[in-house]
Amino acid sequence: VAGMSIDPLKPTVKGGFLYGRGSTDTKGGIAATITSAAQLLEEDPKELNGEVILTYVVGEELLSEGAEKLVEKYTADAAIVCEPTNLALGLAHKGINRFLIEIFGKPAHGGVPELGVDAIEKAGKLATRINGDLRTHLEQKKPHPLAGSPRIHNSIIEGGSKAWNVVPDYCKLGIERRTIPGETTESLIKELELQIEKIRAAEVDDNQRSFRHKISKTFERLPLETKPTEPIAKVLQSAVRESLGEARIEGMPFWTDAAHLSQKGGIPSVVFGPGRIEDAHTKDEKIELTQVYSSVEIFKKTIETFLA
Ligand SMILES: [Zn+2]
Repeated sequence: VAGMSIDPLKPTVKGGFLYGRGSTDTKGGIAATITSAAQLLEEDPKELNGEVILTYVVGEELLSEGAEKLVEKYTADAAIVCEPTNLALGLAHKGINRFLIEIFGKPAHGGVPELGVDAIEKAGKLATRINGDLRTHLEQKKPHPLAGSPRIHNSIIEGGSKAWNVVPDYCKLGIERRTIPGETTESLIKELELQIEKIRAAEVDDNQRSFRHKISKTFERLPLETKPTEPIAKVLQSAVRESLGEARIEGMPFWTDAAHLSQKGGIPSVVFGPGRIEDAHTKDEKIELTQVYSSVEIFKKTIETFLA
């Protein structure tokens, strides 16, 4: 809440928008789900042929501990994850993997550096290749129709022994890789291995080729891919169309717990909710109230049809 230009915890309505911290990410979605369930109970609807679970978990911004625990205890035939999608159906998004690549060289006295193997230099070559050769390779891959092309960037680098007169024998490079459906940890590691092989192959003498390396995966968030033919996607899509006249299917430019529910919990999941992601995490976060009201109608229709 620090540095916000509005009163973060005092909701204010102005020009059809409600301003407040978390209004779009994701209190609007939370309010819409609770309201839709409450109205269904109140309005004496037709008997629902099943159960609706409303669940609000912690940790989605960082480690998703909430969603992780949730799928250990609960399962369902389908899920809607109410992140702000501007009322589009989010059926796919990228995953996030992080790798630590350690380079082990050979120390040498500063007077005879040619006897050493400079780990910082090798890591530097790899960092350059990641932004060059590997990035080009990723751009040439066939993009996923909704999740787009995979991405890669250098994140951290740290090396040397703090001794100015020694050739550094250790350097670590941290990289982040945004994945698309179909990519695996093995395929990602293989791409990195290939780049290291190319560095090794380009070295002229055996000493320079003798560096060792180790690649460790330090973080993994799987991508989301839900087929438009999944019952929940079809039911939600017709509810959206009924309320708004059209129903957009999109890839999301951000990661969500839906990937966790679908990949770890085996629950077909769609991301759908009021609000625009551009307003999330901003100094004057806001949500358009008509989107929240539409969501209530859409959730009610979806529940009634799905559990008919
Ligand atoms: Zn957020």
